[in-house]
Amino acid sequence: MKDNILSMAKEMEAQLVQDRRYFHQHPELSFEEYGTARYICKRLDSLGIPYQEGIAGTGILAEVKGKAEGKCLLFRADMDALPVEEKNDVSYCSKNAGVMHACGHDAHTAVLLNTCELLYRLRDSFSGTIKFAFQPGEETDGGAKPMIDAGILENPKVDACIALHVDSDIPAGCIRIRKGPLYASPDNFYITVKGKGGHAAEPQHAIDPILISAEIISQLQAITKQEKNAVVTVATIHGGDATNVIPDMVSLSGTARSLDCDTRAFLEENIEGVVRSVCDAFGADYEYEFEKLFPPLVNDETVANLIAESAIQCFGEEACIKGGVPTMAGEDFAYFSLERPSALFKLGCRNEEKNIIAPIHNSLFDIDESALLCGLSVFTSCALRFLQAK
Ligand SMILES: [Zn+2]
Ligand SMILES: [Zn+2]
Repeated sequence: MKDNILSMAKEMEAQLVQDRRYFHQHPELSFEEYGTARYICKRLDSLGIPYQEGIAGTGILAEVKGKAEGKCLLFRADMDALPVEEKNDVSYCSKNAGVMHACGHDAHTAVLLNTCELLYRLRDSFSGTIKFAFQPGEETDGGAKPMIDAGILENPKVDACIALHVDSDIPAGCIRIRKGPLYASPDNFYITVKGKGGHAAEPQHAIDPILISAEIISQLQAITKQEKNAVVTVATIHGGDATNVIPDMVSLSGTARSLDCDTRAFLEENIEGVVRSVCDAFGADYEYEFEKLFPPLVNDETVANLIAESAIQCFGEEACIKGGVPTMAGEDFAYFSLERPSALFKLGCRNEEKNIIAPIHNSLFDIDESALLCGLSVFTSCALRFLQAK
């Protein structure tokens, strides 16, 4: 089966690169992936693969059924691009000014589309169902949750979910898979310190929100000393207009990130605890809002093992890096991991000889396109292992 996967994937490489370059040249911002969705639907139509479109806006769910009933596996790719002006000098450079696939979602979408095609061709070799979720809006509010709310994990019921993300720290041809926490919950907090303004020469008659804010900021740092798997960063501070006036209020905002749900709840509570105790001590009032964005993404051990075994089967031990450290960035595939055993692996796309080294979200980001074949092979192998193809 391994040789079969690799040779069939290799035959599809030109198409894979063509798809990726089309997406790269026509990047669209979150929830505006209309052209991308049209292209995907056209390809699915030409293959005769059934799908549902218009889920959570531009989302698409394609489905490939095997020869008999069985388990159900879902693959997910995000489709959106970023408001970045591309600075690469390549033939497939972005044609949309100010928009760029700087996070590699063009590669994710191309790999998913071609995995769908390859598994459709192999449908007589397995039992069960494979779903392919083309998801909008990962970079902003997240299309994962609305797609799940629309029912994509049911009928038939999905047993496990798999996704990938390109990674410029890993050489093309390799993947990295880690069990447990992988991405953080990238939540925000907003604080308004309400003091009492007055003449800057007479601070004894005022309740100085600037002084109070300074105390809050320094005490917030103590939280992350206690909680190692957390980051609390005050990123904005606004208050005051003149050197001789103590203002009435100061507003602060920042990000609070954690790698598990318990720490997340701890942060929400303890940031407010710091604000409350400092404001109480100074006789000030406050407002506090904790804005929950994506949950932390925790990779399931069994699914992570399936990915590792599949990668090793295709490309050998040296192509599969296990472990590594989690990132404090967010990833809305986390919503899948809350619902079903799920795992996301990193797909290496670095090539130092070709000077493909820029990090994601950078205007010079690019991938070594040999990574695409690796993604296609690993996805396909995962599906066949999971559905125990003979
Ligand atoms: Zn991104
Ligand atoms: Zn991304």
